[in-house]
Amino acid sequence: MGTAIGIDLGTSNSTAAIYRNGKVQSIPIEGKSILPSVVSCKDDGQILVGNSAKSRLYMDPQNSMASSKRFIGNPSKVYHIQNKQVTPIDIAQYILEKIKNEASKYLGEEVTDAVITIPAYFTEEQREATKQAGERAGLKVLRLVAEPTAAAIAYGLDRERNQTIMVYDLGGGTFDVSILKVENNSFKVIAVDGDTKLGGDDFDEMIVQHLLHSIQTETGSNQYTEGSSSLQRIKEAAEEAKKELSDSDLVDIVVPDIFGTHIEMELDIATFNQTVQPLIQRTIEKMEEVLQSAGLSKREISRVILVGGSTRMRAVQEAVTKEIKKPYIADNVDEVVAHGAAIMAAHLSAPSRDSLPIPIVVEEVTAHSFGVDMIDVQDQQLKVFHLIKRNTKLPCVGATIGSTLRPYQPSIRAGVFRTESQVPAEEAKLGELKMPVSIRPYYVNVVSLFELDENGILTFSTAEIGRRSLLLSRYRETKEVDLDMLKLMIAQGEITPKKIVIDTNKVEV
Ligand code: ADP
Ligand code: MG
Repeated sequence: MGTAIGIDLGTSNSTAAIYRNGKVQSIPIEGKSILPSVVSCKDDGQILVGNSAKSRLYMDPQNSMASSKRFIGNPSKVYHIQNKQVTPIDIAQYILEKIKNEASKYLGEEVTDAVITIPAYFTEEQREATKQAGERAGLKVLRLVAEPTAAAIAYGLDRERNQTIMVYDLGGGTFDVSILKVENNSFKVIAVDGDTKLGGDDFDEMIVQHLLHSIQTETGSNQYTEGSSSLQRIKEAAEEAKKELSDSDLVDIVVPDIFGTHIEMELDIATFNQTVQPLIQRTIEKMEEVLQSAGLSKREISRVILVGGSTRMRAVQEAVTKEIKKPYIADNVDEVVAHGAAIMAAHLSAPSRDSLPIPIVVEEVTAHSFGVDMIDVQDQQLKVFHLIKRNTKLPCVGATIGSTLRPYQPSIRAGVFRTESQVPAEEAKLGELKMPVSIRPYYVNVVSLFELDENGILTFSTAEIGRRSLLLSRYRETKEVDLDMLKLMIAQGEITPKKIVIDTNKVEV
């Protein structure tokens, strides 16, 4: 049997690890523990991955790609590189090939299998694309595991006790916060939230602005070309300064010969913390929102786990401590996700070996809400009525009963939406269903049913129900559709719903 490893295919950086002899060990790639998730194609067709590609990002932006994980699974995203079309799946494949080859060299044995991690909110299509990239890289993908779950596994939780864990993951470009229930060996993600446009890059940008401001004062000019190598040097200096401030209270920023001057500036931790406070605040608000959607209070969180390179910032650690409680911080916050994946990989490839953690069950929730549009009788406005709320455990169902808008109405029309809002925005619309109903001198009632499976396939059915139907009278009493009764009515042919099936992953919203 070949060797199985765990891979964290990150937006900014990727890492790999292996579990052997009862221990997890990071696998260095080109001697470094983290590999920038950057790919660059040279004129001669050579494909560079990692640090060498990252340094070409600003020299040769046309042929260099970073953060392409944001687009994986999106069929319309194509990079045009030297007359060739490159997709985000290709990029993921190059990164995974690099990891596979480097890991095989390092371990002295052929790496054949891998567990790859993905964000908890990834759609089926994004998962499929990630898996495909792994297979094209010549890896047998044992499983895709959600990043917060992998982190929870890696932190070696005491699985005897029931625990509610918050995973706070601040990476380079994204922020994810998840709540998991851990019980025996089962890891259930119960709520996920985050901000796909908030990460370490934004903290760097705050320092960049600070530096540009000082250059402007010095030279009176504010002509900076986006993508220029001078700007890139400032960005690198800013990131270095930020990292240094995680360990020291004062940093000297020196960038010689830049925009007709040179930068020499001191930045102290207090000024830095104050500047980035609005960014920290956004993560605090997300923590509050995820608690709310999980229906939990801060006190019910047993542990907070910090993940992602940006959680090294002291301002982050302090904010989490103040907001929830003192977090668990590993030395290697940017490697814990790969460590959890490595434990899973070992378990899946050699389950009989002892000293391995016992079976791990992973359960997930829907990251989105789904609803139908109906006229609100109160104010006569067309609104989205949510039948499935986000963070509901998958698979799930939801139903409601509505009616025609006037007597003698011959048909109904229902729009299906994926949205958190009540506004039936066109861009949130997934589909529409039209159905004839009996023409009656009164309002005709219609039941709508959503069924969402583990893979994001949504079935929307709607059927007319009689005015003396027991389902209707029960609904009037309880304001809830009796799902068992509805299923029975369908099974017995009492009502025949009209259906549409929507692959919610295939629709861009
Ligand atoms: P991702 O999961 O998005 O691929 P990582 O978890 O690797 O990203 O985090 C990358 C981010 O972490 C970068 O913005 C980097 O600047 C930041 N980072 C790394 N080390 C430190 C540090 N010592 N202090 C502050 N930020 C850091
Ligand atoms: Mg990450």
